[in-house]
Amino acid sequence: MKRRDFLKTATGALALGIVGPRINLIAADAPAVAAPQRWYKGNIHCHSHWSDGRDLPEVVVDAYKKRGYEFFSLTDHNILHQPELRFTGFGMNYTPSDLKFFDGETSFWKRISPSYAWPNLVEEDVKRAQQIFGEDSVKLKETKEGVYVRMQTEDELSSLFEEKGKFLLIPGFEMTAQNVHVNLLNVDKTFFIEDPSIKNLVAATYDKTLETYADADKPYLYTLNHPMWQYYNIQPSYVLERPGIRFMEVTNNNTSWQYLPEAWTPEQLWDIVNACRAKNDQPLLYATGTDDSHGVFRDDYAPFHSWTRVRADALEIDAIFDTMNKGASYISTGLEFAHIRFDGKTLEVKLDPQVDGKYRIEFVGTKKGFDETFKILEIDGSDGRPPRSVECWSKEIGKTLETVDGLEGSYTLKPDDLYVRAKGYRVDAGCCYHGTSYDRSPLSADAAWTQPYREGDSL
Ligand SMILES: [Zn+2]
Ligand SMILES: [Zn+2]
Repeated sequence: MKRRDFLKTATGALALGIVGPRINLIAADAPAVAAPQRWYKGNIHCHSHWSDGRDLPEVVVDAYKKRGYEFFSLTDHNILHQPELRFTGFGMNYTPSDLKFFDGETSFWKRISPSYAWPNLVEEDVKRAQQIFGEDSVKLKETKEGVYVRMQTEDELSSLFEEKGKFLLIPGFEMTAQNVHVNLLNVDKTFFIEDPSIKNLVAATYDKTLETYADADKPYLYTLNHPMWQYYNIQPSYVLERPGIRFMEVTNNNTSWQYLPEAWTPEQLWDIVNACRAKNDQPLLYATGTDDSHGVFRDDYAPFHSWTRVRADALEIDAIFDTMNKGASYISTGLEFAHIRFDGKTLEVKLDPQVDGKYRIEFVGTKKGFDETFKILEIDGSDGRPPRSVECWSKEIGKTLETVDGLEGSYTLKPDDLYVRAKGYRVDAGCCYHGTSYDRSPLSADAAWTQPYREGDSL
């Protein structure tokens, strides 16, 4: 079955879980961040053979840990990495004819396929894990239908990789419907909903999140994933209907080349939402940067290019989420900030380039009184992309307010500014995703984006 065909028929939600007292997803508008000490690097969107990734889960986590990531979420499609015995998930059905082989067994078992086609597991994937962790590290079972491979659970991955203060795993899954994908992090149960209307589904997914985790006894995080994709565009007005949506992927390494050249980029969507929210005195929308990697050994599976840095005083889930809700994070496609400060009026940034080159900083924002009307552009389907209607908003939104060539710059909010954010990038990077261009390999450029800040915020 092709990926797209499966998405059309997806029904698979798991009901696992624990409920407890409610903790609100939506933080009130940000108070000052109290002197956190470190910028931790993380990827909060990634796949493994628990769904349609190309590697066993331990191989994926190991690769990110070895690359210096400090927090990480394996977010497989519509499934949590729980110990219940199962053979199905995300369109896959490997149920053996004789279940007695699996008496007393736990977790998800995927059968080895003779050749790779999405989302098969092949022998080569098992060998990779054995090379890293040893011949006996992978549990295999021979049946009449072939050899089955056992996936390691979240708890097992946690005991293999987690190190206090050094490496944190955050459990999660990607609620994957046809028209909307969202990540739910630090949750104990999944949900699945579908609706042919993208607009309805954006709202319903958010509402279902609030309902599903109303009794959760721990904080969780909702992120709106790849809002522009080959298969759909999420319109600004849809996001504006739910001011409680606080996080959206602005850089998603796996889908970034699939934007429609006629439409906008996630960076422009981000500004449209924030211009309207700032004007209406609602919480701002913060960016996340993720790989959405489906394999860690080949560049076309999108590993290691896009990440989120979070400034927290401890490498713990509560601390990470708390500070993310206050805007103390930035996103990167290769470039780092040495310094970000916002004192309620002035945004100061300093870049920390890892590669020699010419660098530029742009301060981006929207002025009060901007044109809030939009027109609809109808785009025909092509190259396997469904046709779609796209909202075209004013070019006054998300304008460059000031440009600085070099590694350091600052911008002081003027009375007519609604918010300001900074973007740094390497000017001579060759092929560039700076949030505004369409390119097949956009995230190879070195760029970094701060969150937006408005008068009175503090970082
Ligand atoms: Zn997705
Ligand atoms: Zn994904």
